[in-house]
Amino acid sequence: METTLIILKPDAVQRGLVGRIISRLEDKGLQLVGLKLMQIDDALASKHYADHREKPFYPGLVRFMTSSPVVVAAVRGVGAIGVCRNLMGATFGSKAAAGTIRGDFGVSNSFNLIHGSDSPEAAAKELSLFFGDGGVVDFDRPIDCWVYDTSGGSPE
Ligand code: UDP
Ligand code: MG
Repeated sequence: METTLIILKPDAVQRGLVGRIISRLEDKGLQLVGLKLMQIDDALASKHYADHREKPFYPGLVRFMTSSPVVVAAVRGVGAIGVCRNLMGATFGSKAAAGTIRGDFGVSNSFNLIHGSDSPEAAAKELSLFFGDGGVVDFDRPIDCWVYDTSGGSPE
């Protein structure tokens, strides 16, 4: 099982899309193990997007991410990082495939509704940034035996 960090960006919260986007993750069979509404400040945004510090879009990205509250989620499942990236779609809303979150709910390339960790290393770093205070709740889901094939001993 992997756990990944999802952020519903300020545009998703302002546009009232939180429920519909979270539903897509739940519908897929992913498990929510952390969830909160919060305001990102400059210090947290710069840590979270440290890899992008030299990019031309960085100042606008930090301004956007700190402009209004976000909803952050810790999301768990087999291959959760890749599964979430596929559900999100391509970075630019104008290019993201129909059927994906970015493809279905937006057209902007920067206001693209959702962030998801892109590697196990990024997930570990981002989960500790946003849920490091014990905010991830581990709990059993009895329905997992219908979400996954567990006949081999581990969920597949
Ligand atoms: N972004 C932007 N312009 C660009 C590239 C990225 O405004 O040319 C923003 C966009 O909000 C994106 C975020 O910066 O989601 C981080 O970019 P990244 O390449 O990591 O895309 P992601 O992993 O979010 O798909
Ligand atoms: Mg990224």
